[in-house]
Amino acid sequence: MTKGIVYLVGAGPGDPGLLTRRAADLIARADLVAVDALVSPEIASLITCERIYVGKRSSAHTLPQDQINQLLIHEAKKGKRVVRLKGGDPFVFGRGGEEAEDLVKAGVAFEIVPGISSAIAAPAYAGIPVTHRDYATSVTLVTGHEADDSTGVDWDALSRMHGTLVFLMGFANLPVIASKLPRDRHVAVISRGTTKRQRTVVGTLADIEQKVAEAKLETPALIVVGDVVKLHDVINWFETKPLFGKRIVVTRAREQASELKRLLEEAGADVVQFPTIEIGPPMSWESLDRVIDALVEYQWLVFTSTNGVKFFFERLLAKGKDARSLAGCEIAAVGDSTAADLRARGVIADVVPERFISTALLPLLPQDQHGIRTAVIRAAEGRDDLIEALRERGGDVDLAIAYENRMAEGSLDGEYDMVTFTSASTVDNFFTKVPNPNGALLASIGPVTSEAIVKHGRKADIEAPAATIEALRDAIVAHERQQGR
Ligand code: SAH
Repeated sequence: MTKGIVYLVGAGPGDPGLLTRRAADLIARADLVAVDALVSPEIASLITCERIYVGKRSSAHTLPQDQINQLLIHEAKKGKRVVRLKGGDPFVFGRGGEEAEDLVKAGVAFEIVPGISSAIAAPAYAGIPVTHRDYATSVTLVTGHEADDSTGVDWDALSRMHGTLVFLMGFANLPVIASKLPRDRHVAVISRGTTKRQRTVVGTLADIEQKVAEAKLETPALIVVGDVVKLHDVINWFETKPLFGKRIVVTRAREQASELKRLLEEAGADVVQFPTIEIGPPMSWESLDRVIDALVEYQWLVFTSTNGVKFFFERLLAKGKDARSLAGCEIAAVGDSTAADLRARGVIADVVPERFISTALLPLLPQDQHGIRTAVIRAAEGRDDLIEALRERGGDVDLAIAYENRMAEGSLDGEYDMVTFTSASTVDNFFTKVPNPNGALLASIGPVTSEAIVKHGRKADIEAPAATIEALRDAIVAHERQQGR
């Protein structure tokens, strides 16, 4: 058996993009992960092995700190790779020091993996550099937990310092902290820093309490005191993103959602994935098999989607064949990504229409279709316009059903501001699951999708001028800007 080890790992301040590569790698290879309350759900979702939750007040399944340490030591001694995942950095008010001491005492091997501390990252996401040549030559991290007189915080020394002070664990003690320092100092309170729900309130120590109470800030929150706070108004880059503070639902199939999710997130949105469609193998392989088994008889193969490419090639390989079987066929691909997926499999499409719609192929295919046999590879549900048009030109056309769109399981919880639709079937499935999306705005990728929305008694509030997810994102951003944000 391998020797056990405990890794004390910082998970960063909340934004999953701020997890270090080392942390991600250790999480992926761990046998057991103990997750701290401050670790964001997106990061916790990376854990595939056994996990225990530590220190979540609302949960009954948690153990006190010393029992946790004993458990981790015990598991490591059994030979396990144990990751103790903590918010921010493990050595910045994270009790990592005490835990490392315990591990030394127990003779268990360990490593420390620093994380990006909220003490620096939350101010950075609020546009506040903790040091600045004009405003602060030092930064002091202070526990605000021990704000009363009985503890060791030297308030006189802190009052005399003109650098930046960052108080962690001090939100509940804000009134005490404010009373101990000069009232005219600039201060920022940053709540849920680096997450999509970050909020920053700035003021002076004289008025911050009232402002924070009015803003109803939530924990975790930290307090920054010093002249650097003045830069918030200048540098505030994160909370000013066009879609910041908006919760936007993406209804695309999970396999296809990531690009739209990324585009919306880059614009600042809090994206909720609610796939209404699930892509899976067809009810029967029969029509696809007939084409694959007789590829030499086809002059043209038409791929209408990336999923069609994926399922076609998986089936082809399952039958012990490969791209060479397509040698005699001309290849048409609808959409650049369909063409890119074909290329990745060693096949360069002969024709790719400019528009992402199958009938856009018609001008590019031979006018006289007599004597030409074509296979159209697509989903079970799809439009037959292309097939019919080719048959009218005298062609012999077979439909090969490579996959199927099904209604996905799952429900949509919580509040949201907007729902995005990228096809008529996402609309139909969404309204079947959520008949009344209350006041949410509805954003559509194009006229056909918008038409489907009308059938459900609503109207698209936003429609993309071109049927691409970039155009959809642009239309959403333009709409929100217009709303006077
Ligand atoms: N080791 C952690 C800090 C743990 S102490 C780190 O390096 O970030 C817990 C305190 O950290 C909280 O009370 C709060 O003051 C602060 N904190 C943690 N995450 C935060 C976040 N995302 N936004 C604002 N403050 C946060």
